[in-house]
Amino acid sequence: MPGAPLRTARDIRDAVSSGHASAVEVVQASLARIEATNRTLNAFLTVAGERALERAKVVDREYRTAPLAGVPIAVKDNICTRGITTTAASRMLETFVPPYDATVVGRLEAAGAIVLGKTNCDEFAMGSSTENSAFGPSRNPWNPEYISGGSSGGSAVAVAAGMAPLALGSDTGGSIRQPASLCGIAGLKPTYGRVSRYGLIAFASSLDQVGPFARTAYDAALALSVLAGPDPHDATAAHEPVPAYTAALTGDIRGMRLGVPRTMLDQGVDDAVRTCFYVALDVLRSRGAELIDIELPHAKYAIATYYIVATAEASSNLARFDGVRYGFRAPGTRDLKDMYEKTRRLGFGAEVKRRIMLGTYVLSAGYYDAYYLKAQRVRTLVRRDYEQAFQQVDAVAMPTSPTAAFKIGERVEDPLQLYLTDIFTVSANLAGLPAFSVPCGFTPDRLPIGLQITGRPFAEATLLKIGDAYERDTQFFNAQSSAI
Ligand code: GLN
Repeated sequence: MPGAPLRTARDIRDAVSSGHASAVEVVQASLARIEATNRTLNAFLTVAGERALERAKVVDREYRTAPLAGVPIAVKDNICTRGITTTAASRMLETFVPPYDATVVGRLEAAGAIVLGKTNCDEFAMGSSTENSAFGPSRNPWNPEYISGGSSGGSAVAVAAGMAPLALGSDTGGSIRQPASLCGIAGLKPTYGRVSRYGLIAFASSLDQVGPFARTAYDAALALSVLAGPDPHDATAAHEPVPAYTAALTGDIRGMRLGVPRTMLDQGVDDAVRTCFYVALDVLRSRGAELIDIELPHAKYAIATYYIVATAEASSNLARFDGVRYGFRAPGTRDLKDMYEKTRRLGFGAEVKRRIMLGTYVLSAGYYDAYYLKAQRVRTLVRRDYEQAFQQVDAVAMPTSPTAAFKIGERVEDPLQLYLTDIFTVSANLAGLPAFSVPCGFTPDRLPIGLQITGRPFAEATLLKIGDAYERDTQFFNAQSSAI
């Protein structure tokens, strides 16, 4: 498939800053790549080509020395962009054009980055495959018959297929790390509160975080340096100082203690994933990291806990979509109640309705104590497991997903089966911790596999450093699919 060679954000920024390339040329190359591949991959729901080219001219005139000068970015379609349709992959918001930019979008643009358009995802970020998108699934660039992962599948595909060097996603229970893993790129879920969520369409507010997709740890570090920090529009955005993330990438991880919860790999993990994971640990050990067996005794309850907390919060957050203020309103209704009912029946897809019902149920009188309150208690235990582990180790290593990508359509009949694949990702959200997924190999069928490193609160620099050191020996980011 023709198109631009894969370039990193760092290379693009350097080329634009030094005058070796113009932002306009870079954006044209990205648009050409989208043109060539998006029909197959369905990564972008909206391509804002003209706007991007206009913006590139401004960057060439005024932002040449900015930290992301000329870097094209893809933005998940649950993140608001002023003047560009933002659907959350739902019929409910099919025609919604936000009157403001999310803080993360404003920050990236102020750093010289250029929004190319909006990427596909599971409806309201609920899912692990993008098959819940109202606009069809994204397809995996390594094999278009396979899922991209989700919910931020379109963002992962955009980076993996070379349409954009950087993308934004949101991660409530794994939605950045899992699609990054399944598409063979890097994806970072920052600490809860590290990055502003102003302008992110809320799914589960005690879990949601925005973060970057990139091909390299360096690019993820570069993006996080721009994204992180407090925001007067988001009281949950932390005031913790923002370190120089790229400066942390020294390649030196000697003496770093890495915890490995081996018993979590005993069941339900594909052989290829297990093999790649253990080989990855060897690479880290040969770089001087010390591996220490740890236990996370409550990890086995994390999925149940997550699907109670997340659905409870979603049922409340999604109450605002009732046909009155936002997007879709069912036509020809009799009265207010009829309007609410028809709008929500027609506007939401099956998975979103399932979650609203589950969430309403676990919050309802008589069930609140048995489900929601209990889940909150178990959530504390999950967090304490990590606190204990971090007394011994600097970071925890796990696979990102127990399997590589599966075929599109293969699991749509069995939502529970799909929920169970979130086993390695949800606990970082429940505990509010940062976690980073980097590519660590392939299945025999050449589908990517990811390694996940989880850290202490606000220890993103440690995770990026480990990911970068690992990349220096393995170079999986240079692998490119021949399928597209
Ligand atoms: N797969 C998880 C879910 O379906 C996570 C989604 C997310 O992180 N947005 O809820």
